[in-house]
Amino acid sequence: MRLVLVGPPGAGKGTQAQYIASNLSIPKISTGDIFRANVSGGTDLGKLAKQYMDRGDLVPDEVTIAMVRDRLSEDDAQDGFLLDGFPRNVAQAEILRDMLKDWGQALDLVLELVVDDDEVVRRLAGRRTCSQCGRIWHVEFDDKKDDKCDACGGALFQRDDDKEETVRHRLEVYQEQTAPLVSYYADEGVLVGVDATGPVEEVTQRAMEEIRPFMG
Ligand code: ADP
Ligand code: ADP
Repeated sequence: MRLVLVGPPGAGKGTQAQYIASNLSIPKISTGDIFRANVSGGTDLGKLAKQYMDRGDLVPDEVTIAMVRDRLSEDDAQDGFLLDGFPRNVAQAEILRDMLKDWGQALDLVLELVVDDDEVVRRLAGRRTCSQCGRIWHVEFDDKKDDKCDACGGALFQRDDDKEETVRHRLEVYQEQTAPLVSYYADEGVLVGVDATGPVEEVTQRAMEEIRPFMG
């Protein structure tokens, strides 16, 4: 199963990706996570990406695409994958299509997580990430009274780019550059919209119902 998750920042892509990928036993490939790991590791890629991420802009396509190509070439991605945060514009989508075609592969399904703007802002404002295991939490919705991860005990942090001003810019970037992917994938005949409001488990169930017909 080769899947892509699209949706605005804060829609719940990372959260749903954890559960969907584990249900399907496929790797979850989150470009934001890979960039953040490079930033913390102080790599050249991280130093370059950070300048864009701090502003809420997209990292240049050639850098992002090379990174995804490497990741998709790894053994664990040969029988399927779940992409979260990639592609993020039509140019990336076209290159992904060509790359997969060269390998005799194609996307099975693109799930669009649909939520309104107010909910997105609420979700981003309270987002916390575990510094050890990378799990995503929410101060209000997960009733986090401490700054510890319930899964591993690691310290939670707030992402630099979840500050109000950067959030506003990221939402603009989404509307301008990423939202056109919805019609691109609708034209390709692989798009399905999923109502991403309500409890996390219900959203996962809705997503799994859309995925089930494509399971071998
Ligand atoms: P969110 O889940 O809030 O949408 P991500 O973790 O996916 O954010 O991405 C964080 C940042 O990483 C983006 O704002 C962007 O700077 C960079 N990034 C992630 N994926 C891509 C991509 N496919 N193309 C370009 N930049 C990306
Ligand atoms: P994205 O990857 O699309 O930017 P995340 O998965 O990081 O989004 O989720 C953003 C925030 O919203 C996180 O704090 C997460 O815990 C919270 N969240 C995700 N899904 C839901 C949901 N169904 N209901 C309430 N909060 C949610």
